[in-house]
Amino acid sequence: MPSRFHHPPDTASVLGLPIHLMPDYAGWLFNHLQARQGVHVVTLNAEMAMQGEQNAALARIIHQAELVIPDGAGVVLYLRLRGINAQRVPGIELAEMLLRRSPTTSPPSTVFFYGGAPGVAAAAAQRWQERIPGLHIVGTANGYLSATEQQDLQAQLKALQPNLILVGLGVPRQEFWIVQHRHLCPHAIWIGVGGSFDIWSGQKTRAPSWLRNNHLEWVYRLYQEPWRWRRMLALPKFAWRALRYSERQLQK
Ligand code: UDP
Repeated sequence: MPSRFHHPPDTASVLGLPIHLMPDYAGWLFNHLQARQGVHVVTLNAEMAMQGEQNAALARIIHQAELVIPDGAGVVLYLRLRGINAQRVPGIELAEMLLRRSPTTSPPSTVFFYGGAPGVAAAAAQRWQERIPGLHIVGTANGYLSATEQQDLQAQLKALQPNLILVGLGVPRQEFWIVQHRHLCPHAIWIGVGGSFDIWSGQKTRAPSWLRNNHLEWVYRLYQEPWRWRRMLALPKFAWRALRYSERQLQK
């Protein structure tokens, strides 16, 4: 009998983009890993949904991803306004869950970190390695490679066949890169993790939990990275669109 984890996920819609709802994303992903079924995970937040409206290629990638998780208070609120009780799963937390569980798979899963300024992914890997001695991070690369280094990275991925590949190049660069290169490791889980390496390496900090729990992580990001203000105008635009957009698919 097929495991419930192999069932296609329940799909909701945010501004016409899919969101997959399930109680245990990590379990579903590890089942796919075991079955050698590659997965591209997209962590959808309001900023990305707004980019998807402007960028048809990005929207297509989100539609094609095997798993799209609700990463962001805006997206969860959007769904709740439409009577769908979604739980927020920040991409960084899903990645952390997978890292913690990867030594427990049989055989243990191997991991690759790609992205961030030079040294950042390596520092993040070292911290994780200290925290979880059984974790098997097989390689790291920074996100500013020359054309030759990029070729080397691709050859390395092909040779190593890591099971879990975290790509932190920012949106939408990381999504495009994953789609163009996932054929190198067709059985892997590929996730765009944005600035997670910056946080794991200690370069940046996440918002305190009282802000996160009150859906205000964005306020902290604005305080830490004020130059993001222009990008973050996507948030009020998203709120406006959220109130006006009619998800006809949902009413069917
Ligand atoms: N980055 C990178 N290569 C690039 C551009 C960006 O590795 O060519 C990294 C950058 O160092 C940072 C991450 O991508 O670690 C982007 O983080 P951000 O928090 O801005 O992600 P987003 O909000 O776009 O998901």
